Amino acid sequence: MSETIAEILAERIRRHGPIPVAEYVATALYHPELGYYTGHDPFGLGGDFTTAPEISQIFGELIAIWCLLAWQAMGAPHRVILAEIGPGRGTLMADLLRTARIRPDFAQALEVVLVETSPALRNRQAQTLDGEAVHWVERIGQVPAGPLLVVANELFDALPIRQFVHQGGVWHDRLIGLDAEGGFQFRVGAVVTRPDLPAEAPEGAILERGEAGEALAAGLGRRLADSLGAALLIDYGPTRSGIGETLQAVRHHQYHPVLTAPGQADLTAHVDFARLGAAAAAAGARVEGPVPQGRFLSRMGIEERARMLMEAATPEQAAHLASGARRLIDPGEMGTLFQVLALASPSLPPLPGLAPQGSSAL
Ligand code: SAH
Repeated sequence: MSETIAEILAERIRRHGPIPVAEYVATALYHPELGYYTGHDPFGLGGDFTTAPEISQIFGELIAIWCLLAWQAMGAPHRVILAEIGPGRGTLMADLLRTARIRPDFAQALEVVLVETSPALRNRQAQTLDGEAVHWVERIGQVPAGPLLVVANELFDALPIRQFVHQGGVWHDRLIGLDAEGGFQFRVGAVVTRPDLPAEAPEGAILERGEAGEALAAGLGRRLADSLGAALLIDYGPTRSGIGETLQAVRHHQYHPVLTAPGQADLTAHVDFARLGAAAAAAGARVEGPVPQGRFLSRMGIEERARMLMEAATPEQAAHLASGARRLIDPGEMGTLFQVLALASPSLPPLPGLAPQGSSAL
């Protein structure tokens, strides 16, 4: 049996020829035993990257308030499923559930479901959420029926993408093969003729499509069209679709070559919010946003919450709270690159924090 993901992929290419980019990414991140997310916990300072809930407890607290308001907009059903997709270390859910207890009727209505593919991360989540009544499923389709709240932070950027390359005036699939030394190398695959790909593009241009993410958004959209609920999706990427390559690898908080040591670095791509929203809307959901994360968190009260916590904190804790909050909302940090998109059942009133800029709504 092969020992590394690089060997597994190289063997597959030698036998069957170059593989699609999506297959490379899916294997590197989610191979059942050796995948980057399957086997270990990549978050935090000692890991490869850090995420908003790991930066500040206020992130999960404000999402709790959003969920509470969405639940009230749903008519405060006595039971509501709260599903988090891709919960990482479980930090966001821990902060969310602690905050939810300020409204015991809301906290008691919650049935918490964690949607997680990685066994290592499921264990990590169980540690963080020790004592909380939560259960796990592997796919969103396994979440029980009924009123639903969904939260996903930095999930879509970690889903496999497809790439196309423009050559000779037409789009081709972009593949990964082997060079003479056995290293991975991008290749040009078969011509793809699809009316939804841009007609004009420069020679050599790369186009990405998050097909797995769009399918997930469509599935959520269908569910929200059929039964009451709302979803809050937070990720990084542009609000408008465009041409260009964004697939990148990060290891130990540094950029890493995408085609080197698959499985040992995180692979992400910018999320195309316009296409995610369109997929959910076509499936019947109402789409709100995206709005920049900084604006969303400010509207949800991040400054007030940070001030409140700082009053009761040591000077050291206060400095940590202030720098964490700033990092989440500063335009030069996560404030504008990250976007917040909500999907809702069409019958729900507008949800908090997502009104367009300049609007008087919360
Ligand atoms: N939300 C966390 C972690 C983001 S990393 C945070 O903010 O810190 C992406 C997470 O999504 C990991 O937990 C990964 O294992 C999980 N994941 C990836 N694909 C998934 C899928 N199809 N369904 C459920 N979880 C998935």
